Amino acid sequence: MSFQNPVFIPGPTNMPEELRKAVYMPTIDHRSPVFGEILHPALSGVKKILKSETAEVFVFPSTGTGGWETALSNTLSPGDTVLAARNGMFSHRWIDMCQRHGLEVEIVETPWGQGLPADRYEEILSGDKEHKIKVVLATHNETATGVKSDIAAVRRALDAAGHPALLFVDGVSSIASMDFRMDEWSVDIAVTGSQKGFMLPAGLAIIAFSPKAMAAVENATLPRTFFDIRDMAKGYAANAYPYTPAVGLLNGLKMATEMLLAEGLENVFARHHRIAEGVRAATEAWGLELCAQSPELYSDTVSAIRTPDGFDATDIVTHADKKYGVAFGVGLGEVAGKVFRIGHLGQLTDVLALSGIATAEMVMVDLGLDIQLGSGVAAAQDYYRSHAGTALQKAA
Ligand SMILES: *Cc1c(COP(=O)(O)O)cnc(C)c1O
Repeated sequence: MSFQNPVFIPGPTNMPEELRKAVYMPTIDHRSPVFGEILHPALSGVKKILKSETAEVFVFPSTGTGGWETALSNTLSPGDTVLAARNGMFSHRWIDMCQRHGLEVEIVETPWGQGLPADRYEEILSGDKEHKIKVVLATHNETATGVKSDIAAVRRALDAAGHPALLFVDGVSSIASMDFRMDEWSVDIAVTGSQKGFMLPAGLAIIAFSPKAMAAVENATLPRTFFDIRDMAKGYAANAYPYTPAVGLLNGLKMATEMLLAEGLENVFARHHRIAEGVRAATEAWGLELCAQSPELYSDTVSAIRTPDGFDATDIVTHADKKYGVAFGVGLGEVAGKVFRIGHLGQLTDVLALSGIATAEMVMVDLGLDIQLGSGVAAAQDYYRSHAGTALQKAA
Protein backbone atom coordinates (compact mmCIF):
# COMPACT_ATOMS: atom_id res chain seq x y z
CA MET A 1 0.00 0.00 0.00
CA SER A 2 1.44 3.38 -0.95
CA PHE A 3 0.37 6.52 0.82
CA GLN A 4 2.35 8.77 -1.45
CA ASN A 5 0.90 12.26 -1.72
CA PRO A 6 1.44 14.45 -4.74
CA VAL A 7 4.47 16.74 -4.45
CA PHE A 8 4.17 20.51 -4.62
CA ILE A 9 7.80 21.29 -5.29
CA PRO A 10 8.69 23.06 -8.53
CA GLY A 11 10.40 19.99 -9.93
CA PRO A 12 10.80 17.10 -10.02
CA THR A 13 7.08 17.05 -10.69
CA ASN A 14 4.43 14.37 -10.25
CA MET A 15 4.71 11.63 -12.82
CA PRO A 16 1.82 10.30 -14.88
CA GLU A 17 1.59 6.51 -14.71
CA GLU A 18 2.03 6.19 -18.50
CA LEU A 19 5.35 7.99 -18.29
CA ARG A 20 6.60 5.85 -15.44
CA LYS A 21 5.86 2.80 -17.53
CA ALA A 22 7.52 4.32 -20.58
CA VAL A 23 10.71 4.99 -18.63
CA TYR A 24 10.73 1.52 -17.08
CA MET A 25 11.33 -0.47 -20.25
CA PRO A 26 13.40 -3.56 -21.00
CA THR A 27 16.97 -3.12 -22.16
CA ILE A 28 17.40 -2.71 -25.90
CA ASP A 29 20.55 -2.46 -27.97
CA HIS A 30 21.08 1.28 -28.24
CA ARG A 31 23.00 0.74 -31.46
CA SER A 32 20.07 -0.98 -33.16
CA PRO A 33 17.50 0.75 -35.42
CA VAL A 34 14.87 0.41 -32.66
CA PHE A 35 16.70 3.15 -30.78
CA GLY A 36 16.22 5.55 -33.70
CA GLU A 37 12.48 4.99 -33.38
CA ILE A 38 12.68 6.38 -29.85
CA LEU A 39 15.28 9.10 -30.40
CA HIS A 40 13.97 10.89 -33.47
CA PRO A 41 10.32 11.22 -32.40
CA ALA A 42 11.55 12.50 -29.01
CA LEU A 43 13.69 15.17 -30.69
CA SER A 44 10.95 16.26 -33.08
CA GLY A 45 8.38 16.29 -30.27
CA VAL A 46 10.58 18.67 -28.28
CA LYS A 47 10.94 20.89 -31.33
CA LYS A 48 7.16 21.20 -31.62
CA ILE A 49 6.86 22.08 -27.95
CA LEU A 50 9.46 24.81 -28.45
CA LYS A 51 7.42 26.08 -31.43
CA SER A 52 10.45 25.89 -33.66
CA GLU A 53 10.85 24.85 -37.27
CA THR A 54 14.56 25.47 -37.49
CA ALA A 55 16.15 24.47 -34.16
CA GLU A 56 18.41 21.46 -33.70
CA VAL A 57 17.55 19.62 -30.51
CA PHE A 58 20.14 17.75 -28.43
CA VAL A 59 19.43 15.62 -25.39
CA PHE A 60 22.25 14.72 -22.99
CA PRO A 61 22.24 12.35 -20.03
CA SER A 62 22.42 15.22 -17.51
CA THR A 63 20.11 17.84 -16.02
CA GLY A 64 19.17 21.42 -16.80
CA THR A 65 22.47 22.59 -15.36
CA GLY A 66 24.31 20.43 -17.89
CA GLY A 67 22.15 22.13 -20.51
CA TRP A 68 23.58 25.51 -19.46
CA GLU A 69 27.08 24.08 -19.74
CA THR A 70 26.29 22.72 -23.19
CA ALA A 71 25.07 26.16 -24.28
CA LEU A 72 28.12 28.02 -22.97
CA SER A 73 30.88 25.58 -23.83
CA ASN A 74 29.74 25.05 -27.41
CA THR A 75 29.42 28.68 -28.41
CA LEU A 76 31.89 30.78 -26.40
CA SER A 77 35.64 31.22 -25.90
CA PRO A 78 37.58 32.09 -22.75
CA GLY A 79 37.37 35.82 -22.00
CA ASP A 80 34.16 36.36 -23.98
CA THR A 81 31.61 38.71 -22.43
CA VAL A 82 28.03 37.80 -21.66
CA LEU A 83 25.23 39.99 -20.31
CA ALA A 84 22.99 38.65 -17.56
CA ALA A 85 20.61 39.93 -14.92
CA ARG A 86 20.61 38.39 -11.45
CA ASN A 87 17.07 38.29 -10.07
CA GLY A 88 17.00 34.92 -8.33
CA MET A 89 18.90 31.77 -7.48
CA PHE A 90 18.84 30.25 -10.95
CA SER A 91 20.04 33.32 -12.81
CA HIS A 92 22.69 33.60 -10.08
CA ARG A 93 23.86 30.03 -10.64
CA TRP A 94 24.07 30.54 -14.39
CA ILE A 95 26.22 33.63 -13.86
CA ASP A 96 28.43 31.64 -11.49
CA MET A 97 28.88 28.96 -14.13
CA CYS A 98 29.91 31.58 -16.71
CA GLN A 99 32.51 32.97 -14.32
CA ARG A 100 33.89 29.53 -13.57
CA HIS A 101 34.25 29.00 -17.31
CA GLY A 102 36.45 32.08 -17.56
CA LEU A 103 33.81 34.29 -19.14
CA GLU A 104 33.33 37.97 -18.31
CA VAL A 105 29.83 38.59 -17.03
CA GLU A 106 28.25 42.00 -17.19
CA ILE A 107 25.75 41.62 -14.36
CA VAL A 108 22.60 43.68 -14.00
CA GLU A 109 21.63 43.34 -10.34
CA THR A 110 17.86 43.17 -10.21
CA PRO A 111 15.68 42.89 -7.10
CA TRP A 112 14.48 39.36 -6.39
CA GLY A 113 10.80 39.46 -7.25
CA GLN A 114 11.26 41.52 -10.39
CA GLY A 115 11.59 40.38 -14.00
CA LEU A 116 14.47 40.77 -16.42
CA PRO A 117 15.12 44.47 -17.08
CA ALA A 118 14.77 44.57 -20.86
CA ASP A 119 15.21 48.36 -20.94
CA ARG A 120 18.55 48.11 -19.11
CA TYR A 121 19.60 45.40 -21.54
CA GLU A 122 18.78 47.76 -24.41
CA GLU A 123 20.85 50.60 -22.90
CA ILE A 124 23.83 48.35 -22.27
CA LEU A 125 23.66 46.73 -25.69
CA SER A 126 23.31 50.11 -27.39
CA GLY A 127 26.44 51.28 -25.57
CA ASP A 128 28.40 48.21 -26.66
CA LYS A 129 29.51 49.60 -30.00
CA GLU A 130 32.32 47.07 -30.42
CA HIS A 131 29.93 44.18 -29.86
CA LYS A 132 32.00 42.73 -27.07
CA ILE A 133 28.89 41.09 -25.63
CA LYS A 134 28.52 37.74 -27.33
CA VAL A 135 25.50 36.38 -25.51
CA VAL A 136 22.55 37.67 -23.53
CA LEU A 137 21.37 35.22 -20.86
CA ALA A 138 17.74 35.21 -19.84
CA THR A 139 15.99 33.07 -17.26
CA HIS A 140 12.42 32.80 -18.52
CA ASN A 141 10.92 31.68 -15.25
CA GLU A 142 12.85 32.31 -12.03
CA THR A 143 11.87 29.27 -10.03
CA ALA A 144 13.25 30.78 -6.83
CA THR A 145 10.92 33.78 -6.87
CA GLY A 146 8.03 32.64 -9.07
CA VAL A 147 8.76 35.37 -11.58
CA LYS A 148 8.14 35.02 -15.28
CA SER A 149 10.07 37.37 -17.56
CA ASP A 150 9.10 38.71 -20.95
CA ILE A 151 11.46 37.06 -23.43
CA ALA A 152 9.85 38.85 -26.38
CA ALA A 153 10.84 42.14 -24.69
CA VAL A 154 14.44 40.95 -24.32
CA ARG A 155 14.46 40.12 -28.03
CA ARG A 156 13.09 43.59 -28.82
CA ALA A 157 15.89 45.09 -26.70
CA LEU A 158 18.52 43.26 -28.77
CA ASP A 159 16.84 44.31 -32.01
CA ALA A 160 16.34 47.92 -30.94
CA ALA A 161 20.05 48.13 -30.11
CA GLY A 162 20.89 46.50 -33.45
CA HIS A 163 23.12 44.13 -31.50
CA PRO A 164 24.19 40.74 -32.91
CA ALA A 165 24.57 38.94 -29.56
CA LEU A 166 23.01 35.52 -29.23
CA LEU A 167 20.04 35.08 -26.89
CA PHE A 168 20.18 32.06 -24.55
CA VAL A 169 17.08 31.28 -22.53
CA ASP A 170 16.83 29.08 -19.45
CA GLY A 171 13.36 27.61 -19.83
CA VAL A 172 13.87 24.80 -17.32
CA SER A 173 10.72 25.62 -15.35
CA SER A 174 8.67 27.11 -18.19
CA ILE A 175 9.08 24.92 -21.28
CA ALA A 176 6.23 22.44 -21.71
CA SER A 177 4.14 24.26 -19.09
CA MET A 178 4.11 27.89 -20.20
CA ASP A 179 4.10 29.42 -23.68
CA PHE A 180 7.55 29.35 -25.23
CA ARG A 181 8.16 30.57 -28.78
CA MET A 182 11.68 29.79 -29.84
CA ASP A 183 11.38 31.00 -33.44
CA GLU A 184 9.09 33.97 -32.87
CA TRP A 185 11.36 35.32 -30.11
CA SER A 186 14.51 34.40 -32.07
CA VAL A 187 15.88 32.47 -29.15
CA ASP A 188 19.30 31.07 -30.07
CA ILE A 189 19.58 28.45 -27.37
CA ALA A 190 16.75 27.12 -25.22
CA VAL A 191 17.60 24.95 -22.22
CA THR A 192 15.42 22.65 -20.17
CA GLY A 193 15.47 19.35 -18.29
CA SER A 194 13.30 16.25 -18.07
CA GLN A 195 11.93 16.63 -14.54
CA LYS A 196 9.73 19.72 -14.75
CA GLY A 197 7.21 20.34 -17.54
CA PHE A 198 8.02 16.99 -19.15
CA MET A 199 6.99 15.18 -15.95
CA LEU A 200 9.85 12.65 -16.06
CA PRO A 201 12.55 11.76 -13.57
CA ALA A 202 15.61 13.99 -13.61
CA GLY A 203 18.34 12.80 -15.94
CA LEU A 204 18.06 14.58 -19.27
CA ALA A 205 19.38 17.96 -20.36
CA ILE A 206 17.31 19.14 -23.32
CA ILE A 207 18.86 21.89 -25.45
CA ALA A 208 17.85 23.47 -28.74
CA PHE A 209 20.22 25.46 -30.96
CA SER A 210 19.09 27.96 -33.61
CA PRO A 211 20.98 28.02 -36.94
CA LYS A 212 22.82 31.14 -35.67
CA ALA A 213 23.90 29.29 -32.52
CA MET A 214 24.99 26.31 -34.64
CA ALA A 215 27.19 28.66 -36.65
CA ALA A 216 28.87 29.92 -33.45
CA VAL A 217 29.94 26.39 -32.51
CA GLU A 218 32.76 26.23 -35.05
CA ASN A 219 34.68 29.20 -33.63
CA ALA A 220 34.10 28.56 -29.94
CA THR A 221 37.19 27.41 -28.05
CA LEU A 222 35.95 26.65 -24.54
CA PRO A 223 36.92 23.05 -23.78
CA ARG A 224 34.13 20.54 -24.21
CA THR A 225 34.02 16.79 -24.64
CA PHE A 226 30.98 15.13 -23.07
CA PHE A 227 28.78 18.08 -24.07
CA ASP A 228 30.19 18.63 -27.57
CA ILE A 229 27.13 18.89 -29.79
CA ARG A 230 29.21 18.09 -32.88
CA ASP A 231 29.81 14.57 -31.55
CA MET A 232 26.16 14.35 -30.62
CA ALA A 233 25.00 15.47 -34.09
CA LYS A 234 27.25 12.86 -35.70
CA GLY A 235 25.75 10.22 -33.41
CA TYR A 236 22.18 11.22 -34.19
CA ALA A 237 22.82 10.90 -37.91
CA ALA A 238 23.55 7.22 -37.25
CA ASN A 239 20.65 6.70 -34.76
CA ALA A 240 23.15 6.62 -31.93
CA TYR A 241 24.95 8.53 -29.17
CA PRO A 242 28.68 9.12 -28.78
CA TYR A 243 28.21 7.19 -25.53
CA THR A 244 25.43 5.21 -23.85
CA PRO A 245 22.10 7.01 -24.05
CA ALA A 246 19.52 7.03 -21.25
CA VAL A 247 17.14 4.95 -23.36
CA GLY A 248 14.30 4.68 -20.85
CA LEU A 249 14.26 8.40 -20.19
CA LEU A 250 14.32 9.11 -23.92
CA ASN A 251 11.39 6.75 -24.36
CA GLY A 252 9.65 8.71 -21.63
CA LEU A 253 10.48 11.96 -23.40
CA LYS A 254 8.99 10.67 -26.63
CA MET A 255 5.79 9.77 -24.80
CA ALA A 256 5.72 13.00 -22.78
CA THR A 257 5.84 15.07 -25.96
CA GLU A 258 3.05 12.94 -27.45
CA MET A 259 0.90 13.43 -24.34
CA LEU A 260 1.46 17.18 -24.25
CA LEU A 261 0.77 17.58 -27.96
CA ALA A 262 -2.34 15.39 -27.69
CA GLU A 263 -3.67 17.59 -24.87
CA GLY A 264 -2.81 20.57 -27.09
CA LEU A 265 -0.11 23.04 -26.11
CA GLU A 266 -2.53 25.90 -25.63
CA ASN A 267 -4.65 23.66 -23.38
CA VAL A 268 -1.55 22.69 -21.38
CA PHE A 269 -0.72 26.37 -20.87
CA ALA A 270 -4.35 27.19 -19.98
CA ARG A 271 -4.42 24.35 -17.44
CA HIS A 272 -1.27 25.62 -15.76
CA HIS A 273 -2.66 29.14 -15.74
CA ARG A 274 -5.94 28.04 -14.23
CA ILE A 275 -4.29 25.97 -11.51
CA ALA A 276 -1.91 28.83 -10.72
CA GLU A 277 -4.78 31.31 -10.50
CA GLY A 278 -6.40 29.11 -7.87
CA VAL A 279 -3.19 29.12 -5.83
CA ARG A 280 -2.97 32.90 -6.19
CA ALA A 281 -6.60 33.30 -5.10
CA ALA A 282 -5.79 31.23 -2.01
CA THR A 283 -2.70 33.31 -1.27
CA GLU A 284 -4.75 36.48 -1.39
CA ALA A 285 -7.41 34.98 0.87
CA TRP A 286 -4.69 34.11 3.39
CA GLY A 287 -3.68 37.76 3.39
CA LEU A 288 -0.21 36.83 2.10
CA GLU A 289 1.73 38.23 -0.82
CA LEU A 290 3.67 36.70 -3.62
CA CYS A 291 7.36 37.39 -4.03
CA ALA A 292 6.61 38.35 -7.66
CA GLN A 293 5.95 42.06 -7.52
CA SER A 294 3.24 42.53 -10.11
CA PRO A 295 0.64 40.42 -11.92
CA GLU A 296 2.38 40.33 -15.30
CA LEU A 297 5.30 38.64 -13.53
CA TYR A 298 3.25 35.88 -11.92
CA SER A 299 4.53 32.47 -12.86
CA ASP A 300 2.07 29.79 -13.86
CA THR A 301 4.41 27.03 -12.67
CA VAL A 302 5.51 28.10 -9.20
CA SER A 303 4.32 30.56 -6.56
CA ALA A 304 6.79 31.89 -4.00
CA ILE A 305 4.69 33.10 -1.09
CA ARG A 306 6.05 35.59 1.42
CA THR A 307 5.41 34.92 5.08
CA PRO A 308 5.15 37.62 7.78
CA ASP A 309 8.38 39.18 9.10
CA GLY A 310 9.87 37.28 12.00
CA PHE A 311 8.40 33.98 10.81
CA ASP A 312 10.71 31.39 9.27
CA ALA A 313 9.02 30.23 6.06
CA THR A 314 11.16 27.10 6.01
CA ASP A 315 9.20 25.85 9.06
CA ILE A 316 6.19 25.47 6.76
CA VAL A 317 8.10 23.10 4.52
CA THR A 318 9.54 21.09 7.41
CA HIS A 319 6.21 20.80 9.20
CA ALA A 320 4.26 19.89 6.03
CA ASP A 321 6.67 17.07 5.40
CA LYS A 322 6.75 15.79 8.96
CA LYS A 323 3.09 15.99 9.85
CA TYR A 324 1.30 15.57 6.51
CA GLY A 325 3.83 13.95 4.20
CA VAL A 326 3.53 16.73 1.65
CA ALA A 327 6.46 18.46 -0.02
CA PHE A 328 6.58 22.20 -0.67
CA GLY A 329 9.63 24.17 -1.82
CA VAL A 330 11.87 26.15 0.52
CA GLY A 331 13.07 29.67 -0.19
CA LEU A 332 16.50 29.80 -1.84
CA GLY A 333 19.34 32.29 -1.52
CA GLU A 334 18.26 35.83 -0.70
CA VAL A 335 14.69 34.78 0.02
CA ALA A 336 15.56 31.75 2.19
CA GLY A 337 13.27 31.77 5.24
CA LYS A 338 11.19 34.56 3.72
CA VAL A 339 9.16 32.55 1.23
CA PHE A 340 7.88 29.05 0.76
CA ARG A 341 7.06 27.79 -2.68
CA ILE A 342 4.14 25.88 -4.10
CA GLY A 343 5.12 24.18 -7.33
CA HIS A 344 2.12 23.81 -9.65
CA LEU A 345 3.50 22.38 -12.84
CA GLY A 346 3.37 19.08 -14.58
CA GLN A 347 0.73 16.48 -13.92
CA LEU A 348 -1.72 18.44 -11.78
CA THR A 349 -5.44 18.98 -11.76
CA ASP A 350 -7.64 21.45 -9.92
CA VAL A 351 -8.45 18.70 -7.43
CA LEU A 352 -4.82 17.91 -6.70
CA ALA A 353 -4.05 21.63 -6.39
CA LEU A 354 -6.84 21.94 -3.81
CA SER A 355 -5.17 19.25 -1.70
CA GLY A 356 -1.93 21.23 -1.71
CA ILE A 357 -3.70 24.45 -0.82
CA ALA A 358 -5.60 22.70 2.00
CA THR A 359 -2.37 21.25 3.36
CA ALA A 360 -0.52 24.56 3.27
CA GLU A 361 -3.44 26.06 5.16
CA MET A 362 -3.39 23.39 7.90
CA VAL A 363 0.35 23.84 8.29
CA MET A 364 0.15 27.62 8.62
CA VAL A 365 -2.65 27.35 11.19
CA ASP A 366 -0.63 24.69 13.09
CA LEU A 367 2.31 27.08 13.17
CA GLY A 368 0.22 29.90 14.57
CA LEU A 369 -0.08 32.17 11.55
CA ASP A 370 -3.19 34.31 11.56
CA ILE A 371 -5.00 32.43 8.82
CA GLN A 372 -8.59 31.22 8.68
CA LEU A 373 -8.84 27.49 8.06
CA GLY A 374 -10.67 26.98 4.75
CA SER A 375 -10.19 30.52 3.49
CA GLY A 376 -7.67 29.71 0.78
CA VAL A 377 -9.42 26.50 -0.20
CA ALA A 378 -12.72 28.37 -0.60
CA ALA A 379 -11.10 31.06 -2.74
CA ALA A 380 -9.52 28.44 -4.99
CA GLN A 381 -12.76 26.44 -5.14
CA ASP A 382 -14.61 29.56 -6.27
CA TYR A 383 -12.04 30.16 -8.95
CA TYR A 384 -12.06 26.56 -10.19
CA ARG A 385 -15.86 26.35 -10.15
CA SER A 386 -16.14 29.37 -12.40
CA HIS A 387 -13.21 28.44 -14.68
CA ALA A 388 -13.82 24.76 -15.35
CA GLY A 389 -11.08 23.03 -17.32
CA THR A 390 -12.88 21.40 -20.23
CA ALA A 391 -9.70 20.47 -22.10
CA LEU A 392 -8.44 18.52 -19.13
CA GLN A 393 -11.55 16.38 -18.84
CA LYS A 394 -11.35 15.57 -22.53
CA ALA A 395 -7.70 14.61 -22.30
CA ALA A 396 -8.40 12.34 -19.33
C1 LIG B 1 15.40 23.47 -11.93
C2 LIG B 1 16.01 24.63 -12.61
C3 LIG B 1 17.35 24.62 -13.05
C4 LIG B 1 18.29 23.50 -12.73
O1 LIG B 1 18.00 22.37 -13.39
P1 LIG B 1 18.62 20.97 -12.89
O2 LIG B 1 17.87 20.04 -13.77
O3 LIG B 1 18.32 20.84 -11.45
O4 LIG B 1 20.06 21.01 -13.19
C5 LIG B 1 17.81 25.68 -13.78
N1 LIG B 1 17.03 26.75 -14.02
C6 LIG B 1 15.76 26.81 -13.61
C7 LIG B 1 14.97 28.03 -13.91
C8 LIG B 1 15.21 25.76 -12.89
O5 LIG B 1 13.96 25.83 -12.45
